[in-house]
Amino acid sequence: MLELHQVSKSFTTPQGPLRVLEGVSLALAAGESLALMGESGSGKSTLLHLAAGLDVPDTGEVRLATRVLSSLSEPERAGLRREAVGLVFQQFHLVPSLSVADNLSLQARLAGRHDPAWCDELLARLGLGDMAQRYPEQLSGGQQQRLAIGRALAVRPALLLADEPTGNLDETTADEVLTLLLGLVQASGCALLMVTHSPRVAAPLDRCLTLAHGQLGAIRNAHGASR
Ligand code: ADP
Ligand code: MG
Repeated sequence: MLELHQVSKSFTTPQGPLRVLEGVSLALAAGESLALMGESGSGKSTLLHLAAGLDVPDTGEVRLATRVLSSLSEPERAGLRREAVGLVFQQFHLVPSLSVADNLSLQARLAGRHDPAWCDELLARLGLGDMAQRYPEQLSGGQQQRLAIGRALAVRPALLLADEPTGNLDETTADEVLTLLLGLVQASGCALLMVTHSPRVAAPLDRCLTLAHGQLGAIRNAHGASR
């Protein structure tokens, strides 16, 4: 589904080049869920941006489904992202002037993949069914993040990329949102790559990798064994 092959990425800073990823390889199968952990500044968001085609590596390849994402043009990457990738961030990035229902379906409409029945099901499963005509500012933080998750899944993406999706929520709300997210990921059959600081959040996922000094290490496989 998603494959990173020997991916390296540096940024130019006033102090000189900053090497963030150094020869990182990763494969995520269809329907598989993977947690990505690591200290702040270790390059987790950078890796997620490369997986989404929001940025390209300096060297190495990023493959999404059958396409080499890293050799496509910016408009081609944007097109593939709209069709195949759902994105959820720590900030909810909702459109304040649009209703809950319109926020949820916006990206699906833009991608030409609007499925009203699926959108209604998402609203119901996210506990937002009777809030469809409200506006984002009338929702709690947890409700806003549930809406952002629904928006990401409305296109029925093959891959959901989530960057600390519960990072802005208190622990109880975070647990509720995470349970809903994992349930919907299973229902939709998409693969999940989720960045998180929290071992508790990472625990229910199939695999967990950690990023440090530009390299990935395995800390847990599907059976919970650590090495
Ligand atoms: P994480 O998500 O693990 O906290 P990031 O991937 O956001 O880490 O950032 C990794 C490192 O790269 C940090 O030191 C950050 O400051 C730097 N960085 C990220 N994006 C850029 C950029 N566009 N330009 C310069 N430096 C960047
Ligand atoms: Mg980050």
